[in-house]
Amino acid sequence: MTTLTFTHITKSYPKRDTPVLDDFLLDVQSGELVSLLGPSGIGKSTLLKLIAGIERPDAGDIRFDGESVLSTAPNQREAVFMFQKAYLFPFLNVGENIAFGLKVKGFSTKERLIKVAEMLDLIGLPGIEKRPPNELSGGEQQRVALARSLVIRPKVLLLDEPFNSLDRPVRLSLQEAVRNIQRELGITTLLVTHDLDEAMAMSDRMALMMGGKVAAIDKPQRLFQKPPCVETAKFVGVKLFIEGVASSGTLVSAEWGKLKIEDEQKVGRSIFAIRPEHIRIQKEKCENALAGVVKNCVYRGTQIEMKIALGERVLRAHIPAKNEIMPAEEPVQVILPKEHLFAVN
Ligand code: ADP
Repeated sequence: MTTLTFTHITKSYPKRDTPVLDDFLLDVQSGELVSLLGPSGIGKSTLLKLIAGIERPDAGDIRFDGESVLSTAPNQREAVFMFQKAYLFPFLNVGENIAFGLKVKGFSTKERLIKVAEMLDLIGLPGIEKRPPNELSGGEQQRVALARSLVIRPKVLLLDEPFNSLDRPVRLSLQEAVRNIQRELGITTLLVTHDLDEAMAMSDRMALMMGGKVAAIDKPQRLFQKPPCVETAKFVGVKLFIEGVASSGTLVSAEWGKLKIEDEQKVGRSIFAIRPEHIRIQKEKCENALAGVVKNCVYRGTQIEMKIALGERVLRAHIPAKNEIMPAEEPVQVILPKEHLFAVN
């Protein structure tokens, strides 16, 4: 069990005006799975490379259990990668692939056979020791790659978009398998992904990276329902932001009029937000109702995605799939329930 700490990490690359990571701070608890999200090029993979020792930081420290690893050689760091491709050795069979790291560490043939069999059980592919990797499906190859990484019981597991090249059913089953195995072995893990669903399904905490730092970090449910800042809110699918002046339970906005709010803490100029699935569409007027006209409805099976015109503005609402699909130009009331309006920074 290992804690992972980044203290004030700065990392620049030549030919870039600004550092990729700039005074970056993060604490990962022992056995925790933290996902790193953010736009492409924000420095997610760089962070993994720094942990593994493939890159060096310009400043700051990386610590496993409080001990700096910066002077430890990459092959001694006990941080293993799983990539989008399995990169199995084609000239070795599955068992030999998994046993490779054990052989380097000096385990006997008998010990290697036992550990390989244990790992194959763990990844749900018992008895395939003798198969060549090229006879396995993409998902099976990834499971073997995971077994090869974990058989040496590393301190830290680094997952760099490992499910990207797989089709959806295989991806979902592998996500579940990796998460279960990671939990069972208690391996501290960082997952780089651009897939919000994947991050939410797998993580103890999700970290959104922006401008070389962690912009927000929290449990998936909290980050999704109550993102702390506008950038994070946009990243998790919030589309409506209302700027106004808050005072004792009311938000007065030049654009949207007067709205009731529950956040009594917020006073003065503020931005409030609401998730598209918390917006209600109905015929009757009630508190926080705005008159609009249906522009477009798309049925998605799990929800109906609506575009509603309110004068010049267009607002998106996701309503439960059991509702009727409304025709275009139908007049409706758009309700922004006060319990779902939250303040963002
Ligand atoms: P992400 O994983 O978030 O997509 P990366 O960590 O791969 O981002 O890259 C962050 C930025 O650093 C990008 O602009 C990328 O082009 C640049 N970069 C990454 N590796 C190198 C390198 N070895 N040399 C120069 N620039 C690099």
